[in-house]
Amino acid sequence: MDAIRYDFRSDTVTRPTEGMRAAMAAADVGDDVFGDDPTVNRLEQRMAGLLGKDAALFVPSGTMSNLLGLMSHCGRGDEFIAGQKAHLYLNEAGGAAVLGSIQPQPIAHLADGTMALEEIEAAIKPDDSHYARTRVIALENTFGGRVLPVSYMTAVAEIAARHGLGLHLDGARAFNATIALGMDISTFVEPFDTVSICLSKGLGAPVGSVLIGRQDLIDTARRHRKMLGGGMRQAGLLAAAGLYALDHHVARLADDHRRARRLAEGLARHEALTVSVPDTNIIWVTVAQEAAEGFDRLLEENGIGVMGRYGSQRWVTHLDISDEAVDTALTLVDQHFA
Ligand SMILES: *Cc1c(COP(=O)(O)O)cnc(C)c1O
Repeated sequence: MDAIRYDFRSDTVTRPTEGMRAAMAAADVGDDVFGDDPTVNRLEQRMAGLLGKDAALFVPSGTMSNLLGLMSHCGRGDEFIAGQKAHLYLNEAGGAAVLGSIQPQPIAHLADGTMALEEIEAAIKPDDSHYARTRVIALENTFGGRVLPVSYMTAVAEIAARHGLGLHLDGARAFNATIALGMDISTFVEPFDTVSICLSKGLGAPVGSVLIGRQDLIDTARRHRKMLGGGMRQAGLLAAAGLYALDHHVARLADDHRRARRLAEGLARHEALTVSVPDTNIIWVTVAQEAAEGFDRLLEENGIGVMGRYGSQRWVTHLDISDEAVDTALTLVDQHFA
């Protein structure tokens, strides 16, 4: 395969900018397992403050953050409810079951990405020794790049409250949602007990996620983080990248969204391509069967990286996708189908 020059595969591929690298190099550090790293402490306090929650925990990945979120709500033999295509159910190697001894209860998604409220409620188990104990409902927003309605999250929160369940948000790209909605992040996450946010996606940090939430849950998560091997020492070098991202890379997510819309509109001009209308920075493209192989080859030979082959693709815009990258891709596709 030719080298990728324009990398639309994921917003995880971003490389730290000069400014971010300078902030990392200058970071004041200490041993974070001892609670001594001032930069990690600053990041955790800042995230907790931004989201209007008690506390936060810096962790190596979104996968660990989601796992710790679920484990803070659930003990052995407990159960979580999540969407059939939720990242924390489908794309995290079964970690909740394997490492947390927590049973998943997946629920099918409706066409709009939500789960039917009646189905969620029907899946909550009664107190009966035949059943695992349902403890928490997990939502994901954005979901596949789509912004799910705040009214949906509120409705699920009401169900959780009625049944005494916890509520977790996989908000890997929560800032993409709040920028698209023009909403304050603390309002967006208000109903949730725990929230996971990735610094390493659209925010452009090389490593790291943060679990934010209620003090008792974050205390439990801190213990489990150590158990899972996620206790890092002079992690301020990494936390500094996260702080820099919060200062410089949140508002600019609007640029990614604008570029995604332009890319989607450009691609959709071609009959062979069926293109989703992006809410944020992710586009889903279906290529007509007879055109799929040629289209894969075109992108590959021209250094344009996308996720997926054989007619089903994901394109993602991010910090390292400029207007010129979008123009180059669209010109190439226009010439191909001309
Ligand atoms: C990327 C992602 C995660 C996991 O993050 P990693 O840092 O890759 O482990 C979790 N949930 C969603 C929705 C994601 O997109």
